[in-house]
Amino acid sequence: MRSDELFRRAVSLLPGGVSSPVRAIKPYPFYTDGGKGSRIRTCDGDELIDCCLGYGPLILGHANKQVADAIRSQLEKGWLYGTPTELEILMAERLIRDHRGIEMVRCVSSGAEATMAAIRLARGYTGKKKILKIEGGFHGAHDSVLIKAGSGATTLGIPDSAGIPPAIAELTRQVPYNDPEALEAILSSDEEIAAFIIEPVMGNVGTILPDKEYLKEVRAITEEHDVLLIFDEVITGYRLGIGGAQEKYGIRPDLTTLGKIIGGGLPIGAFGGRREIMEMIAPAGPVYQAGTFNGNPLSLAAGIATIDLLTGDPAFYSRLDAQARVIEESIPGTADGSFVRTGSMFTYFFRDAPPRNYIEAKESDTTRFGAFWKKSLASGIFFPPAQFESCFISSAHTDEDISRIAGVFSSCLN
Ligand code: PMP
Repeated sequence: MRSDELFRRAVSLLPGGVSSPVRAIKPYPFYTDGGKGSRIRTCDGDELIDCCLGYGPLILGHANKQVADAIRSQLEKGWLYGTPTELEILMAERLIRDHRGIEMVRCVSSGAEATMAAIRLARGYTGKKKILKIEGGFHGAHDSVLIKAGSGATTLGIPDSAGIPPAIAELTRQVPYNDPEALEAILSSDEEIAAFIIEPVMGNVGTILPDKEYLKEVRAITEEHDVLLIFDEVITGYRLGIGGAQEKYGIRPDLTTLGKIIGGGLPIGAFGGRREIMEMIAPAGPVYQAGTFNGNPLSLAAGIATIDLLTGDPAFYSRLDAQARVIEESIPGTADGSFVRTGSMFTYFFRDAPPRNYIEAKESDTTRFGAFWKKSLASGIFFPPAQFESCFISSAHTDEDISRIAGVFSSCLN
């Protein structure tokens, strides 16, 4: 197999043979040679229906024509200037229009950079030094948030990374998801917390939904204790709907972090929030944030084209929801796991009831997940290779793709 050969070359060159841990599938990962629409093509000649979609960004599928045209037309004009461009204004106008919690925007190059800067901003604005996060929440691979972190960190069993000095780790506290009492207790007993950062719908320990009133309680409790609320919508932004989770649940966070879909598949991140807070960012204010690739023209061109396609089609999200519902309805009544879904993001947990938090998600049977994953791959479907990830579909998935995905669930889980 070509993938086997490539991986043998890679292991002596790249730690673990890969560039990001979740890609290290055993005994070797398949290597991808191309992608079009809902499909990716492997170096071994297989064509797979992609339900990983680059871990979320590709809501229009691979190599969407309009996005490709936008990238190409920007390419013709050059791709990096180190000066302002109109593109960053066009992006900011869209993010502000679509998010109730965003009045000003800074464009960066990844979701991790967005959360790192939003946390610094929250500390700078409040003058307080600690942050609070959700157990199992994932906000990118940087020191303040790699504490009981989800995604690959959970899959590999290293949710608390080596190399983070205790002096830094001590400044990050945790609460379980869906537990307003724990949030109230910690904020009442610790006055040094600048901000609470939360994925409004958890996406990095698999998909976990908020209890009915949870996010409203989160907003009320953080407000009462004067703690900034940061919604990390890197996955949920433009995934749950035009206005992300903040629109779906009717919450106005103080700060919002975005990434993935807003770059149309090119590297991007952004954060925004209340004007008064955002004006603390340099050069308007004293909280420093800078980057060679901030507001990268190619990423912005791809992202703006993507957002315009999403917002220009009033039926976009209802169509995607209906497709995902077909998959949900294919789960056999006899299956003893639980299918959790919101819109076009979902996880099948090998656990009898939908988890409400990280501890419960971790009770899932990962051995059974592994067997399911292998069978689905053999049937031509690529799900993210770990129980603790969310699966996605795109508008490029055809009815036939959806029925093949549904078929894998109904045959593998029976
Ligand atoms: N926040 C969330 C909720 C994420 O899911 C991720 C990435 N999966 C990040 C932040 C980090 O984004 P990036 O990988 O672009 O740095």
